[in-house]
Amino acid sequence: MSESEKPTYIDKIGRFLNIDGEKAFNGLDNKERNYCYYFSRASWEGAKICYFQRSYEAPALFYMLSKIFTIQSLDEIKTICLSKGWSDEEWRMLTAYIAGFFQNCGNYLSFGDKKFIPEIPKEKFLEFIHLTEAYSLEPEKFDKIWNDINLELYEYKAPYGELGYTDKGCLSSYYSSNMTQEDCKFADEFMQSIDLSPLNTRVIKHSPDHYEILVCSYKSGGKVYNYKDKKFSVVYGDFSPFMYKVITNLKECIKYAANENQVEMLKHYIRHFETGDINAHKDSQRAWIRDKNPIVETCIGFIEVYLDPNRTKGEFEGFVSVVDKEQSKKLAKLVDNAEKIITNLTWPKELEIEKFSKPDFTSLDVLTFACSGTPIGINLPNYEDVTRNDGFKNVNLGNCYGTPNKQFSRFLRDEDVDIVINYSHESDFVMVALHELLGHGTGKLFVKKEDGTFNFNKDMPHPLTGGPITTWYEPTETWGSKFGKVSSGYEECRADGVALYLSTFEECLEILLPGRKEVWDDIVYGMWLQTTFSGLTGLKYYSPETQEWGQAHVCASFALLQVLIEAGNGMIKIEETTKDGKPYMYYHLDRTQIHTTGKKAIGEFLRKLQIYKSLGEVEEGTKFFEGYTKVNEDFLRYRTIVLENKTPDWVELQHDFKRTDDGNVEYVKFEESFEGIIKSQVYHYRDTFEDVYAVWSLYKDHFKYKASQ
Ligand code: ZN
Repeated sequence: MSESEKPTYIDKIGRFLNIDGEKAFNGLDNKERNYCYYFSRASWEGAKICYFQRSYEAPALFYMLSKIFTIQSLDEIKTICLSKGWSDEEWRMLTAYIAGFFQNCGNYLSFGDKKFIPEIPKEKFLEFIHLTEAYSLEPEKFDKIWNDINLELYEYKAPYGELGYTDKGCLSSYYSSNMTQEDCKFADEFMQSIDLSPLNTRVIKHSPDHYEILVCSYKSGGKVYNYKDKKFSVVYGDFSPFMYKVITNLKECIKYAANENQVEMLKHYIRHFETGDINAHKDSQRAWIRDKNPIVETCIGFIEVYLDPNRTKGEFEGFVSVVDKEQSKKLAKLVDNAEKIITNLTWPKELEIEKFSKPDFTSLDVLTFACSGTPIGINLPNYEDVTRNDGFKNVNLGNCYGTPNKQFSRFLRDEDVDIVINYSHESDFVMVALHELLGHGTGKLFVKKEDGTFNFNKDMPHPLTGGPITTWYEPTETWGSKFGKVSSGYEECRADGVALYLSTFEECLEILLPGRKEVWDDIVYGMWLQTTFSGLTGLKYYSPETQEWGQAHVCASFALLQVLIEAGNGMIKIEETTKDGKPYMYYHLDRTQIHTTGKKAIGEFLRKLQIYKSLGEVEEGTKFFEGYTKVNEDFLRYRTIVLENKTPDWVELQHDFKRTDDGNVEYVKFEESFEGIIKSQVYHYRDTFEDVYAVWSLYKDHFKYKASQ
């Protein structure tokens, strides 16, 4: 069986990322704790949407599992299964799958968008369902759901294996399953024509002449349009029951807000979730940006667009976190010095934002991150028209890094493993700080404004060709809409490249790693090593069939690795060998060349990357970037070695809160195991899963893939 034909499982060995916020939570007063509690409730209520954004079948399985583990305890079900002859290993396979399913908000890995299936056979999974009390209460309903989704739960070959356009051999539940790439783009084009943001929508194609746009909002309503001889029904009220609960909890938050900016922000959020109006969300983000250095930091809404093949529809997320004062001080200092540091970057100064609006940059400990996966750094908002005028915020999520250990390391020499283990937290901190603030935060887009004027000097010569400038962004265009699918990987690569490049400047290290001068070299080496090395191990996210990368950050790392290989001088060596009779390899990065070969190559690469981005040169830019993400014969061979030596994917554990009747809020912890993750996830959603079934039933037939269509 070739690699791509093998199914992906959540490895039963288990590798847990414990997002522990207890210490941070203990430092809060009761008002702040209540604020956290209600914001967290709102976040988890909204995160039910993530299941709908992942696959047709995910909401239905979420419903069944939530019901099963709410009616009966996990331990009780385990006892029953074992008494019916299940082995410990079978139980572990089952719980690994369920824990992974909940954590990823569905049955595709949030990191890489690849389908994973249960390792136990289908009959065994069905037996588990049949053994539960939930089943015995409503056997017909459960049987019906099982009939509707069991094929999808176990099918992993195209188009079921990956998320993307249906006509590219993938599936996407942002669109009814009969929609082609062209249909998806056409629907976006219509939305643009009536100035409706696609960010919080799903689309159904009822017939060749009739599309329906579902807009997430509490209030229902709608309007019918004609666009290029097609009928478009815009229907409000999608996910309305979830929105009702999101709004209810946000209203409670208002009582515990720390200041007027937070109150204003919450009111805009509520208006946004009531009406579906993205402008209200933009207003919430403006108030959020004004709320500088809050002790409790939050965000909620349709935020990142990675999951949508069109890159225009957001995945729902909501988070609650607490500021880490010590680390935040360093980041604030980086912000203060940003304008000076930016002058070290390699693109012409005309391509830089005239006035770097100093963002808030804090380090946070996450209490809740309700979404399919937790990042380690954030740069928000994603609205270019808001960031252009109001600025933005950066956050480092300090307790979400995960700690590497010897058991799961491979392809690195022992001395490198030690460096990665000893300095990973500091390397990650420098990486995230530079990536978010000076990576995503820099570089200007050349825009033609609504009034027909330009935000750049049209007479300046093209920085690469010396000729005239003929491309820019129209008022309605954004980076994402213009560069489309390549935009996420391209932008992550630019941000990572900036981070590597600037890590070679002492002024950055003095700010971020004070008092650690004796190990700066090791930490910077660790950073370069981890970033480029993840381009190699990340080959598992590359699909030779579609020749596409399933993950933007990994695609970015791979491109940077190729830049260093292209630079030559033997800076990168991949040594093929054998281990235990099987092909194996070792990765070498010559640390003595970071300041010479490496810095020069990355600097030159960034210059071009930024020029194409600033000028909106889609064709040239795409060609240039894709030149570095192509996987040649050698790397296809390395990919096989990576797949043969897999390490388990992380599965995250998040804890929760309990609020007593007298208004006290406590931190509730769960054990670091598959069982602990399942218990915590069932706890996150409390008893609110019936609405998931109701919403799923409304449109399910449109989203189910039919082979004959
Ligand atoms: Zn990024």
